[in-house]
Amino acid sequence: MSLIAENIRYFHSVLPPQVKLIAVSKTKSPAEILEAYDAGQRAFGENKVQELLLKYESLPKDIEWHFIGHLQSNKVKFITPFISYIHSVDSLKLLAEINKEAKKSDRVIKCFLEMYIAEEDTKYGLDMEEASAILESPEYKNFQHTSVAGLMGMATFTEDMNHVRKEFQYLSYMFNVLKTKYSFGGCFRELSMGMSGDYTIAIEEGSTMVRIGGSIFGDRVYR
Ligand SMILES: *Cc1c(COP(=O)(O)O)cnc(C)c1O
Repeated sequence: MSLIAENIRYFHSVLPPQVKLIAVSKTKSPAEILEAYDAGQRAFGENKVQELLLKYESLPKDIEWHFIGHLQSNKVKFITPFISYIHSVDSLKLLAEINKEAKKSDRVIKCFLEMYIAEEDTKYGLDMEEASAILESPEYKNFQHTSVAGLMGMATFTEDMNHVRKEFQYLSYMFNVLKTKYSFGGCFRELSMGMSGDYTIAIEEGSTMVRIGGSIFGDRVYR
């Protein structure tokens, strides 16, 4: 069995049933993705539109694609015909664009509001007030082709796991407050948090979707 297949089987066996595995395949080849696919993995995450389109074209059509990178409004239209989840919505304007484009393919795209929880200027995201403002806006209530599935966040890149845990606790707290406040007919119930280095902590703090790249596919080489 290939190492990638072994890793997929490992995650499928250790993750609790309420936690879904997103295999983050950015920079990895279609052949490597197929190794994971053949081991039973169906949900894959990519962070670049161009790269995702090439992979979407060449890979099996029952793959559930997750977009996890920063998304520019002018590129939304390329992925709305097939994308299942967009984890990185950080403005009402972007959500409106996704809704407009998804309508053309008569689809409903599940979106996460990306929250800013880290201490790094390089990360994107909303604060609690901005997220509430989106969820309360009359525009959002009229969107028929997007549904907000929950919140996503990335912790600070640090060895200090207590710090990471505090950031996840804060994200989890915001998730629970918003979930209680806006019941959304049951659609706001996913918490996308945790990567290779911190997924066990994320799960302890309430994650329902972990986005794992390196621990499945090995180190990434950026060209
Ligand atoms: C790359 C990436 C991941 C996966 O990171 P690993 O450390 O390789 O597991 C998860 N989420 C986002 C948003 C990413 O860009």
